[in-house]
Amino acid sequence: MKDYYRLLNEHLPIDCKISDNEYCGKCCFKTEMLLTRLDISRIKSLGYREDYFIDRGGEIPKLKNVNGKCVFLDEETKACKIYPYRPLGCRLYPLIYNVKEDKVEVDPLCPKRSSISKSKVKEYGRFVRELVVILMSEWGSKA
Ligand code: SF4
Ligand code: SF4
Repeated sequence: MKDYYRLLNEHLPIDCKISDNEYCGKCCFKTEMLLTRLDISRIKSLGYREDYFIDRGGEIPKLKNVNGKCVFLDEETKACKIYPYRPLGCRLYPLIYNVKEDKVEVDPLCPKRSSISKSKVKEYGRFVRELVVILMSEWGSKA
């Protein structure tokens, strides 16, 4: 649990704004973001039912998409409706774990990927690895 709370304070600094009142939101379309138990309990604490936001179709619970986008994405502004409570993986994106190569990298799909320096990848990459360990320990070796 201690690791969880430390991770909660971490989020990769990235400016996702594309205008005064609109965000990019690209990574929130067809999201496949996996959820830790703490992610689930924090979001539930806001009053959301599990079946509203969890897709249990895979081996590990993940965020649900509705009409091709995360259930928490604001249609108009592309802002996250639960930003302070968003899952750990959302906080660390666009850093992702490449399973095949066992390395943390910047997702090439993010339009602002070039703003993430190598030193940031190194600094925040350890949190991505920790998150993978947490997911594996919670949901078995399926992460
Ligand atoms: S794709 Fe990149 S720039 Fe766009 S919202 Fe996600 S993290 Fe931000
Ligand atoms: S929880 Fe928020 S940041 Fe994460 S995918 Fe959904 S809308 Fe995007």
